[in-house]
Amino acid sequence: MTIERFEELNLSEETLKAIQDMGFEEPSPIQALAIPMLMQGRDVIGQAQTGTGKTVAFGIPVLEKVDPTSRDIQGIVLCPTRELAIQVAEELNTLAKYRKGITVLPVYGGQPIDRQIRVLRQGAQVIIGTPGRVMDHMDRGTIKLDKVRIAVLDEADEMLDMGFREDIELILQTVPANRQTVLFSATMPSEILRLADTYQTDRLLAKVSQKVLTVPNVEQFFYEVPRGSRLEAMCRIIDVFNPKLSIVFSNTKRGVDQIVEHLQARGYMSEGLHGDMNQVQRDRVMGKFRSGNVEILVATDVAARGIDVDDVEAVFNFDIPSDVEYYVHRIGRTGRAGRTGRAFTFASGREFYKLRDIQRFTKAKMVQRSVPSVGDVEQAKTDKFLSGIRESMAQGGLENQVRVVEHFLENEQVSSLDMAAAMLKILMGPPREEQDDALLFNEPSRGRPGERDRDRDRNRPGPGFRESGPQQGMTRLMLNVGRNQQVEVRDVVGAIAGETGLSGRQIGKIVMQDSRCFVEVPTEFARDVVRVMDGNQIRGLRIEVKEVSEGGRADDDQRSMRKRPATVRPFRAKRPNSQNWDR
Ligand code: AMP
Repeated sequence: MTIERFEELNLSEETLKAIQDMGFEEPSPIQALAIPMLMQGRDVIGQAQTGTGKTVAFGIPVLEKVDPTSRDIQGIVLCPTRELAIQVAEELNTLAKYRKGITVLPVYGGQPIDRQIRVLRQGAQVIIGTPGRVMDHMDRGTIKLDKVRIAVLDEADEMLDMGFREDIELILQTVPANRQTVLFSATMPSEILRLADTYQTDRLLAKVSQKVLTVPNVEQFFYEVPRGSRLEAMCRIIDVFNPKLSIVFSNTKRGVDQIVEHLQARGYMSEGLHGDMNQVQRDRVMGKFRSGNVEILVATDVAARGIDVDDVEAVFNFDIPSDVEYYVHRIGRTGRAGRTGRAFTFASGREFYKLRDIQRFTKAKMVQRSVPSVGDVEQAKTDKFLSGIRESMAQGGLENQVRVVEHFLENEQVSSLDMAAAMLKILMGPPREEQDDALLFNEPSRGRPGERDRDRDRNRPGPGFRESGPQQGMTRLMLNVGRNQQVEVRDVVGAIAGETGLSGRQIGKIVMQDSRCFVEVPTEFARDVVRVMDGNQIRGLRIEVKEVSEGGRADDDQRSMRKRPATVRPFRAKRPNSQNWDR
């Protein structure tokens, strides 16, 4: 039986309501498969990558199994990184928002342990933690796992790669033997299967088989744009490419409504299409779209099913779809009937993992572009206007207008050039206001069109798309010293290792440039490395250290530069014999 609706999953009213609020139209394939297995109490091994909706797939069953009248820890989720633990905890908190009395607590290294202990004392039924920190709490007696009913290993392959095997096994040996054990992993190396054989009983496999899909012949571009700036980016792209009809895809109904509202406010002819609309409303919107009275249709994947309109020249992925298959369906809405089709995808942060999967799976050639500048938009508008003039002149029949112009020039004693310029100004309207693209799009400020991509690359520590970001689980830091100051890689390693207690092995890739260098450190420690190293010295030089955002630029945002409170434990105060990845 295929599950098509969340209502078919036997979930509590409160959880359904939370899902409704999150705007999900239907369960993703891994959710449809894994949630029923988990709700039945079975051990499950789920093969799913980031972006498939795996967090909700295990999150819902974990929460549904919690008894809110007891304050004992009943569910534990282990994650490889602090970043993931926070993200998973946020998603579970959102799912649990209508279930009174449930506390979901992330526990990870780098955060003052005292604060975690205080919350743990009050009672948290679900713990989302990195293995090292969970072990730390177990040693202190602040986490007790004897009432755990369900244990989840999220991104299990990553955790093993990071050397957490011993900690994970110790944790799994501590939880009661009759608990449910769930293991999610993107890959299934033999080590994972061995772990599953040891700690799971009678398990089921949840794996979504990828269908073979024909990827349509559509030009595909992607843009690194933070969520909050995507609307501006999309409007500029629309203004430059000037597609006849466009479809914008959003993963949620709420997203559709918000995008439509903003597009309409900016004067675009736009309407939304989603699952909450009845047939009459949908037909009305589709009628307007077909006739060109609506130029931008904003839709969820479910609502867009079966849309067959020939003149769609652009598809926008406002967010990356939760399933690779959806991506292929989405971009297939353009480039029909021999017309040119373009697909534009926005991504930032963790979405790049999904983008990488899509590229790998579809073998599609996706080209990274910079968002057009305001100058590009103005240029495109002028070009369009001038080509309209050319067309009109070629068509002829301008005798009446010529007489009016002659009369005007004679009477006013002005040149035809001045008159044409004034007309251009009136007809084209005021120019768009310049905006600070560096702030909007995380990009360096840009010069003339054409210089942009080169400049952008120069500002990046590495070439290309995924290579431009740090290794998984690592955060890139920027130091304001480089070759010009005679600083070498070993100086950087020596200083960081010496000052922070990180081992040389834990310090990742280092890229030396003339006046600065980039160094990757485990994300768990990044803030603390900044705290210890910023203002410290290398080869007698006072250095500044900043976190660098995913795209490679220094993150000047006060949040990341805020000094940690003095209560953070120094690295040196390590628990003996333990992996120190996550503290
Ligand atoms: P994950 O694979 O857990 O990293 O989830 C990827 C993204 O998909 C997250 O932003 C989720 O909020 C979102 N998501 C999860 N389930 C669904 C769903 N059924 N429909 C739409 N989006 C979803």
